[in-house]
Amino acid sequence: CGIVGILGRSPVAELLVDSLKRLEYRGYDSAGVATLEGDHLARRRAEGKLKNLEKRLQAEPLGGHTGIGHTRWATHGKPTESNAHPHATENVAVVHNGIIENFRELRAMLEKQGAKFSSETDTEVVAHLVNSYLLKGDTPQEAVKKSLPQLRGAFALAFVFAGHSDLMIGARKGSPLAVGHGDGEMYLGSDAIALAPFTDTISYLEDGDWVVLSREISVIYDENNVVANREVLKSGASS
Ligand code: GLU
Repeated sequence: CGIVGILGRSPVAELLVDSLKRLEYRGYDSAGVATLEGDHLARRRAEGKLKNLEKRLQAEPLGGHTGIGHTRWATHGKPTESNAHPHATENVAVVHNGIIENFRELRAMLEKQGAKFSSETDTEVVAHLVNSYLLKGDTPQEAVKKSLPQLRGAFALAFVFAGHSDLMIGARKGSPLAVGHGDGEMYLGSDAIALAPFTDTISYLEDGDWVVLSREISVIYDENNVVANREVLKSGASS
């Protein structure tokens, strides 16, 4: 129900949780974060309140300057730790707001190809679909570009990739997603409120848009994969 992503210059796990707290007003039943520790993706997830996630992180801290976080409002699969986002393979981690309507077909197809699922969510198909292209040798950008048109339903998505610490990809169809522009840092968030602690310089993705981010550059594409110019606004929501 809430998404945040940070390409930062300092450890991001705590910042992700702080930002998720600002999205508490949307309601949620579980939460999680994934970061890039060196080249590897690492996750911490917890049922219930963000306090539970904070306790997990205190017991088992996560390093890394690149990461994504999520508060979940379960639509498919109970609010358990294994259904909490981020969902991930070795190569890619994703957080999702919304519903992937054709997840059953996609899951059946991916399982036939050998993908091993570990949750009951609609979201996990997104991780495995993108992963299937990565396994074929596609770049993360190419893998997401090929996956998005296969997803039916409503989504805001944020991805990070093993071995790519200066990359985050976001996509929007039916659920809002904003890009936050920092000073040598870049952010994704469900709304400007989530990003207010970091920056007040925001671009909103339009429906069908997806965005490829590094710390210095953001490139937004429309649903036809044509580079799109979206206004950069001062949100005034900064605190
Ligand atoms: N449909 C997804 C799930 O149930 C995402 C729910 C949400 O928007 O938080 O895991």
